[in-house]
Amino acid sequence: MAEKIGFIGLGIMGKPMAKNLINAGYDVTVYDIFPEPIEEMVGAGATAGNSSADVASKTDIVITMVQDGPQARQAILGEGGVIDGASEGDLVVDMSSIAPGVSQELGSGLAGKNINFLDAPVSGGEPFAISGDLAIMVGGGAADFERAKPLFDVVGKSAVLCGAHGAGNVTKLANQIVVGANIHGLAEALVLATAAGVNPQTVFEAIQGGLAGSNVMNAKAPMMVSRNFEPGFRIELHYKDINNAMETARALNVPLQVTANLQQVLTSLVVGGDGRNDHAGILRYVEQLAGVEVKEL
Ligand code: NAD
Repeated sequence: MAEKIGFIGLGIMGKPMAKNLINAGYDVTVYDIFPEPIEEMVGAGATAGNSSADVASKTDIVITMVQDGPQARQAILGEGGVIDGASEGDLVVDMSSIAPGVSQELGSGLAGKNINFLDAPVSGGEPFAISGDLAIMVGGGAADFERAKPLFDVVGKSAVLCGAHGAGNVTKLANQIVVGANIHGLAEALVLATAAGVNPQTVFEAIQGGLAGSNVMNAKAPMMVSRNFEPGFRIELHYKDINNAMETARALNVPLQVTANLQQVLTSLVVGGDGRNDHAGILRYVEQLAGVEVKEL
């Protein structure tokens, strides 16, 4: 019989991922600290849980998809958390993007009760969460990875075991550095084009098939040109990831110059009130420096 699935954290990413599991035939019990997404998911075929512990007591594999380390710690190890309801041999898969050190802490906390753990953050954003095409980077044991693989195959198009607990989130930090630096570079490119009187949409179309082209460019250039900053992936979440990257780098004495600069850009945007915009809104920081607004010419 297929394993019963718990899903905790029903935000931009969690809802479509849980829906895909339901549509694939899994029995899914859900929980969020807010009632609205639970009601929506019950409408989509889920069973409502009334706490993380309650979800864990009724399921075999519990997925968590919350904002950051403090929320993951609360949902998994906190009072009324997964650890209070899970049984020996259950598997917890934290798919949130959090600091690698916190993933290791969650793994050890659960191991004390013989509960298994994987950190399995994702890349691809809301569109790939909806289409079931996420890229999943995993930290933990091989047997746990094989056990979770059928679920990863539903919510994602690739899942790679990167190493022990925390390795999934190290890989995610690497991903966020590359994505953030690309968006910042793309923003500068489109501001320069606009200032020079060349249509930024045309620049995008001309370069997307060359070496500069990327998934980031295909997703974010149209948003920048149409000035659509609806998330998607919020600046405040990217800020969280880059802060986690800098904290990890500091602990390892690794200098990261591009990442350090990106941290300053994101700090400025968050302090300026743009934190809830999509990270395509990094454009607004570059525009303010240049006094140029990107638009179709
Ligand atoms: P979100 O803020 O939309 O959703 C998080 C949900 O978790 C919220 O509904 C919140 O109420 C719930 N939650 C928080 N603490 C909880 C707790 N203790 N118990 C139960 N529910 C709790 O965030 P999101 O955009 O879905 O992102 C989730 C994670 O995925 C983040 O770590 C983010 O960095 C990562 N991520 C997001 C994207 C994206 O494009 N949005 C892409 C890749 C990775």
